[in-house]
Amino acid sequence: MCGIIATLSYNDNISNDLVSALERLEYRGYDSAGIAYLDNDFSLQRIRTVGKVQLLKAAVEKKHIKSHIGIGHTRWATHGKVTELNAHPHTADGVAIVHNGIIENYQELKKRLVNEGYIFESETDTEVIAKLIASHIKSGEKFFEAFKKSINELAGTFAIVAIYEKEPNILLGAKKGSPMAVGLSPDKQSGYIASDAVALSTLADELAYLEEGDIVIVKKGDQFLYEIFDPNGRRIRRKSVPNKVSLNDVSKNGYESFMLKEIFEEATVARKTYTRFNYDLDISKFDNISIIACGTSYYAGAVAKYWIEDIAKIHVDVEIASEFRYRNPVFAKNSLYIFISQSGETIDTLCAMRLVKEAGIKTLALVNVETSSIAREADFVIKTEAGVEIGVASTKAFVAQILSLLMLCCRNIDIETIELSINAVLNGNYDFTGLANKIKHSRSLFYIGRGVSYPIALEGALKIKELSYISAEGYPAGEIKHGPIAIIDENIYTMALAPYDKYFDKTISNTQEILARNGKVLLITTNDAKNFLHGIDQNENVECVFLPANNPLYLPFSLTTFTHLLAYYTAKAKGHDVDKPRNLAKSVTVE
Ligand code: GLU
Repeated sequence: MCGIIATLSYNDNISNDLVSALERLEYRGYDSAGIAYLDNDFSLQRIRTVGKVQLLKAAVEKKHIKSHIGIGHTRWATHGKVTELNAHPHTADGVAIVHNGIIENYQELKKRLVNEGYIFESETDTEVIAKLIASHIKSGEKFFEAFKKSINELAGTFAIVAIYEKEPNILLGAKKGSPMAVGLSPDKQSGYIASDAVALSTLADELAYLEEGDIVIVKKGDQFLYEIFDPNGRRIRRKSVPNKVSLNDVSKNGYESFMLKEIFEEATVARKTYTRFNYDLDISKFDNISIIACGTSYYAGAVAKYWIEDIAKIHVDVEIASEFRYRNPVFAKNSLYIFISQSGETIDTLCAMRLVKEAGIKTLALVNVETSSIAREADFVIKTEAGVEIGVASTKAFVAQILSLLMLCCRNIDIETIELSINAVLNGNYDFTGLANKIKHSRSLFYIGRGVSYPIALEGALKIKELSYISAEGYPAGEIKHGPIAIIDENIYTMALAPYDKYFDKTISNTQEILARNGKVLLITTNDAKNFLHGIDQNENVECVFLPANNPLYLPFSLTTFTHLLAYYTAKAKGHDVDKPRNLAKSVTVE
């Protein structure tokens, strides 16, 4: 969450780099944005705007900035409302900082700093960092020492970058719990610190990722260089890796949004994940598998539970990371723990994994970013081949996750059929706009399904919530009668996932129960069900869509693409920004 960029350069045109990086980082937060920089007289300047980076860009362009050093931030607010005063960077006596994460002991630190005479202008946890550094400088420390001392006093998770007007040729960064990368421009004229490789695409072609507790200094002297120090203060080399994010990855390629582009990549991503799957981890040697994740990744795990138990006959639990990590879990013997995270930085998942590792149990990471913290710390890593995903609501990454999990228990899959079935949804004549216009007025929505369609219903409902802001629940079709049916009336739409599989008749019966209470239904089924609908399609409250018939094993793929497109068009029909849904951000690095 939150995007950080910082640059120090031999030229004085850094504002372009800062703003272009913030535009690419916007998917990490878009409550507010800001930059701080030293002008030609080395005095600290700051520009902050509430809302999307576009507004900051306009404000920056008006200033015609000449500066060689600066920091930038896109915020996803944790402490303090979305206001200009709470926007980063935060400053104190010539120090400016940007921060990703949460400072848990900020109240104690703030009290101390207020007693020292500091006046706080924001409600954020972040502002204490700037004041703390300034206070150490005031007591005689050099910038680097003051920064180090301050970092040691902070509890919580963070990625922080700081600049100071009296030491205008260094950038300082620190990482604990939130990702941070450092790199130089190919011509060695500029140095950068950022939250991810996406920010640095087009700026740095090689990156080093900081590890927990590292501090980095980027300095300009005769030569441009950066130095990294481990938590013991020892200078250390962190491996430099190519920045694989290309311009193509961070552009919409003619689509009206990243999300639509990414849904249209789902078939290609499935093929790529299949072709590149080259892991020989034999899950049959484990007696239990636990899958731990958050959000969409958790639903990918829930799909895999059905497959792994059915095909590999291994008991599988699926758990929410933020619950797992705080409940003193009991570990079953001979278990494999699988951690799923698109970014590989999801803090709850990362901390849950650390807990499992401490217990000496094998961990497998399923991530889309191989340089991520979760990938680096796991015993085994499977990289999903989704490519860069910019849309905040995860789509193609979910497809890559479920395909990888299927391949973990079944190598012999028919990828051709999977690809065809996704493409049939993408290129079929489904009237998504018409359907969206019907469901967008619903007070709330249900997505129901049985068997493996149940976790797809959960995923479908989550996408609707995230993008359309309509309250939507995914439910096992058989469970509706145990309570939620009380909500059903003529204002409620239910999406029934009822492909023609072994659950079909049961799901149809549950759909009839909803129709009997005047509920409206979108029945999402398959072509081979046409002769077995028993007239449900004649009910005036039912709309039917038919997806291609398929081997039941592969049905989740076409159902997923359908639910993603339905969520996309519903949000569009409501006039929402599909790439940047309100209150959300990608890569959840706070608890
Ligand atoms: N806790 C800080 C704030 O609310 C940083 C949040 C972030 O990671 O964007 O401003």
